[in-house]
Amino acid sequence: MLVVMQSNATEEQVRAVCQRIEALGFRPHPIPGAGRTAIGITGNSGAVDTSSLESMPGVVECIPVSKPYKLVGRDIKEENTIVRVPTPSGEVTFGGKAVAVVAGPCAIETREQAFTIAERIRASGTRLFRGGAYKPRTSPYTFQGLGEEGLRILADIREKFGLGIVTEAIDNDSLDLVERYADVIQIGARNMQNFSLLKRAGHTRKAVLLKRGMSATLDEFLMAAEYVMSEGNYQVILCERGVRTFADHTRNTLDLSVIPAVQRLSHLPIVVDPSHGTGRRNKVLPLSRAAVAAGADGLLVEVHHDPAHALSDGPQSILPEEFDQLVREVRAIAAVLGRTLN
Ligand code: PEP
Ligand code: MN
Repeated sequence: MLVVMQSNATEEQVRAVCQRIEALGFRPHPIPGAGRTAIGITGNSGAVDTSSLESMPGVVECIPVSKPYKLVGRDIKEENTIVRVPTPSGEVTFGGKAVAVVAGPCAIETREQAFTIAERIRASGTRLFRGGAYKPRTSPYTFQGLGEEGLRILADIREKFGLGIVTEAIDNDSLDLVERYADVIQIGARNMQNFSLLKRAGHTRKAVLLKRGMSATLDEFLMAAEYVMSEGNYQVILCERGVRTFADHTRNTLDLSVIPAVQRLSHLPIVVDPSHGTGRRNKVLPLSRAAVAAGADGLLVEVHHDPAHALSDGPQSILPEEFDQLVREVRAIAAVLGRTLN
């Protein structure tokens, strides 16, 4: 159920409606839009008796939401959500006019490795650095990440290079730590349906970058975002990172058609990870171009100065000079669409 407020409804009127929804035993989610605020109601298992809400000052109407997702869908908010990420070198936005670029190694391996890559990323004009301190690996015998030591290295990179930090939480315990260091908390493909982690991410005040599960349908992907939003965190960035198919010329099949599909149904920004999406270094540049051409709100790219010795995802990591080229080309494509790079 959705309570649509008048365009000139006061904050007080919105608050009063929220209080009434709480008194009915439900949870209100006021979502301000360009023209008006809509208040989503969650926590109801059946229809909500709206008669007491409809007569309240400032209310236009109460409309049932037919889709399974209430907060993620365009019913509640017609215009795109812009997720704003503060970094030491200014705000980076996802979902606005600018295409956001996030780059860095798969994993933080050593201080020297991370600093070398961060310096190159910053020199390209990029303001968000990625790198895992906690790595969800298929094998328990491969590099699992440096843990909190990796987060401390990321904090130093933030300070030294002015880069905002995007890093993954793999469970509720690591999220407690990650939220202290990260500007954006990544939730990985393998955790897209880790519902307790999604709910926990809903309680943080940091933006969440939610990756699509490798076999997730669009509805499942959007419902995962709904979990985060239903707990009160509306700063969600969706990320397409490839799905499993029969194709064996790439690690995954990058589903670029999900970009316009998401944009039709949801107001949330969607970015593309061409690194995991292809698993092959030589395919990262063409798929980055294609992602931006298809309307992606950003890119998440793995970069390593010595991929042959990377402790994870070396084969899909591009070199810093290749990343420079990527930034140049993607900026030109964004310009054709009236967009910039941020
Ligand atoms: C990553 O970004 O390094 C990662 C592990 O991604 P995914 O969850 O998409 O596999
Ligand atoms: Mn990786």
